[in-house]
Amino acid sequence: MFETTIAGSLPKPAWLAETHKLWPRWRSEGAELQQAKLDATLLWIKAQEDAGLDIIGDGEQSRQHFVHGFLERVEGIDFEHKVEMGIRADRYKAMVPQVVAPLKLKGRVHEAEARFLRAHTKRKIKFTLPGPMTIVDTVADRSYGDRVKLAFAFADLLNQEARALEADGVDIIQFDEPAFNVYLDDAATWGVQALERAAAGLTCTTAVHICYGYGIQANIDWKKSLGDQWRQYEKVFPALARSRIAQVSLECYHSHVPPHLMALLEGKDVLVGVIDVASDDIETPEQVADTIDAALKFVPKQHLFACTNCGLAPMDRDVALAKLKALAAGAELARRRHA
Ligand code: ZN
Repeated sequence: MFETTIAGSLPKPAWLAETHKLWPRWRSEGAELQQAKLDATLLWIKAQEDAGLDIIGDGEQSRQHFVHGFLERVEGIDFEHKVEMGIRADRYKAMVPQVVAPLKLKGRVHEAEARFLRAHTKRKIKFTLPGPMTIVDTVADRSYGDRVKLAFAFADLLNQEARALEADGVDIIQFDEPAFNVYLDDAATWGVQALERAAAGLTCTTAVHICYGYGIQANIDWKKSLGDQWRQYEKVFPALARSRIAQVSLECYHSHVPPHLMALLEGKDVLVGVIDVASDDIETPEQVADTIDAALKFVPKQHLFACTNCGLAPMDRDVALAKLKALAAGAELARRRHA
């Protein structure tokens, strides 16, 4: 009951990459960098286990950014000539690579870190991939000329890698779709269709993470503009409830998401965000358990998982570590309350 897991990313150690950045520069290159990425992964496996988490991730230590880490292994993408583009409906600007030719995987994307993760923990492991719609929103298209066609092309590549990750021993494959909270009508139609295509044929557990973004200033400002009730989930949740995706990770604590929207996910596992990633204040176990209590009004306890609102990548490492401990301690308190 109330198994604990993180949304995905964790801060990179200062010896691996620049800290407190969404697109940090690596500190080394070549074989030295490959070793440093795995060393950082091992560090975070141990830290998650010590904190008491039930489902362990790689903390996305091997990718510079959650979308571009995947794109680096895709043929047909020009990384040499990045262009500035407004992403998430122009909420913020990013330097993005361009799609210039038909897409194809160059080979495996995350084999090394997935197998490394499997080899170094006996607990269940989760691996994250960017969702097709969010990829389309984080790349400049100079080739396909159609967002849906492009999303389906990416979905096929994601599916290829996801099936291989399953064979590597991954228990849960999660697709990250923050764009679902931006393009609401498209998310409920072709967004979910592309997601299902990415997850087609998988027999491991599948999940989707939908959030209001990392705790960066542009997102904090955007959230202030969304009013007292954030109802973005309302359109996409019914479509997800009808889909074959098993788990939905959502933002809850310190958000203005009306908790009753979780009831729209009937039959799904719900990964309730009980840890705020936009504040350095460490949640108390009581606060975490109270958030779980509030969610239990709308989610049956056998379907409730405790999670972070989003990734912790841009945060201070010590803060992130303390939040992992708060997550586990809060879930433990909730288990005692509901034993
Ligand atoms: Zn997120």
